[in-house]
Amino acid sequence: MYEASIALSLLDVASEVLREHGAARASALTVRVGQWSSVAPEALTAAFPACAAGTGLEGARLSVVTVPGVGECPAHGRVTLDVTRGLRCPECGAPTPTLVQGNALELDELELAEPDLEDV
Ligand SMILES: [Zn+2]
Repeated sequence: MYEASIALSLLDVASEVLREHGAARASALTVRVGQWSSVAPEALTAAFPACAAGTGLEGARLSVVTVPGVGECPAHGRVTLDVTRGLRCPECGAPTPTLVQGNALELDELELAEPDLEDV
């Protein structure tokens, strides 16, 4: 399942951030998913809990923020693309083969969990 492998690589990145902060657990994370990245946010949200089980991200709340695609039109400059119309300027229909944003998936925010007082 494609989204499961995405969730796993996301967990790698998040675990790295946890280590950098010397934190054991995170309570929430926000991920920015480009509309053109071919990742379905719902599928990612569905795959995440099982992938996070046993890691510092277990039980963490996953929020997905969708980032619209932006292309470069020769006439109109940067334009927000319409997924249903493909890589074309929504104003004039000119091809915009280069995506300026919207094809990436990145970890935006990681909320560290408060240390468990009972463990201190
Ligand atoms: Zn245009």
